[in-house]
Amino acid sequence: MEYSVGVDIGGTKIAIAVVNQKGEMIDQTVIPTDLSIPPEAMISKINDEIRNMIEKSSISEDEIIGIGIGAPGPLDSKNGIITCPPNLKTWVDIPFQKLVQQSFSIPVKLENDASAAALAEKWIGAAKENDNFAYMTVSTGIGAGIVVDGKLLRGLKGNAGDIGHTVVDPSFGQCSCGQYGCLESIASGTAIAKRGSEIMGRHLSTKEVFDLYAEGNEKIADFIENVFRVLGVACVTLINTFDTEKIVIGGGVSKAGNPLFRSIQSYVSQYALNPSGRQTEIVPAKLEQSAGVVGAAALCFNIM
Ligand SMILES: [Zn+2]
Repeated sequence: MEYSVGVDIGGTKIAIAVVNQKGEMIDQTVIPTDLSIPPEAMISKINDEIRNMIEKSSISEDEIIGIGIGAPGPLDSKNGIITCPPNLKTWVDIPFQKLVQQSFSIPVKLENDASAAALAEKWIGAAKENDNFAYMTVSTGIGAGIVVDGKLLRGLKGNAGDIGHTVVDPSFGQCSCGQYGCLESIASGTAIAKRGSEIMGRHLSTKEVFDLYAEGNEKIADFIENVFRVLGVACVTLINTFDTEKIVIGGGVSKAGNPLFRSIQSYVSQYALNPSGRQTEIVPAKLEQSAGVVGAAALCFNIM
């Protein structure tokens, strides 16, 4: 049996797991992302955790084929550099791959986290049978991993799929990136909590906004239905651009469940340009929270 180590870097926590060639997690740990220490010190902690995990597993070192890292963009995956992720503000131009590679004799790979999650869904999740699909995560931010003709679409530096900053409704106001009406500024979990709180005049979490929606609150219903509509717009953009056969949606907001999937499916069946595109299946992710770390481990195996 072959194994790899997956590392999923997030703004608040880092998940590390040993995964076998069937995509099963053998062991896993989660450590907090400490932004008060230099990134090099944090990476050294990650290296220690990886070493501990390998040592305490009964796996012999030559069965471990590599270490895969999923990290938030913007990044330069071809050179293994984390460039300037908004949720890791002090991590500017960090040669992450090199700093891990120095400690281990097995190959280390780095890829953007949405692409890694797309790989996981292809490997053991909702897109096993699909060679043309997109994985879209709708969480604190919005991103996508795109597979075309059975290959992960990377682009120049590995940042392809940054759909969160495509404009869907300029009337909505300014996004943190400077443009007006980005998808992420309307439909991310963060945006939903912010706008929902404004509408209700009290502080609400994303979940509380969805609870009010489920209870039939009319003011919230108008807003959430607009959120679903712009997510539909994003899916039609993906379908029209990449000719996908399936879109897998993950992240906290996908927990809105049936109303969200029904609404997006209906928008797509009406507005995708080509007849086959209108049939694109819109489905929930299968891997939920483990997609990032399993996808990172998947970078070391020949999935596609
Ligand atoms: Zn933006």
